[in-house]
Amino acid sequence: MDQVSWLKRRKPGIKDAKRREMPDGLWRKCEGCGEIIYHKELERNLWTCNKCGYHFRISADQYRNS
Ligand SMILES: [Zn+2]
Repeated sequence: MDQVSWLKRRKPGIKDAKRREMPDGLWRKCEGCGEIIYHKELERNLWTCNKCGYHFRISADQYRNS
């Protein structure tokens, strides 16, 4: 089950995407433990999962991904 898809369907009644506080592009899934972590949180942790210590590979591409 892809949790990003789940997030997209979370509020089916809201059409205005701008109202969403946390766009899907701002989340990353940890490949170590599967935790979904907020982008800013990862930046703060230097791209390391605070659950399992997994180090994320981040590219410029991912920054632009929305
Ligand atoms: Zn993890």
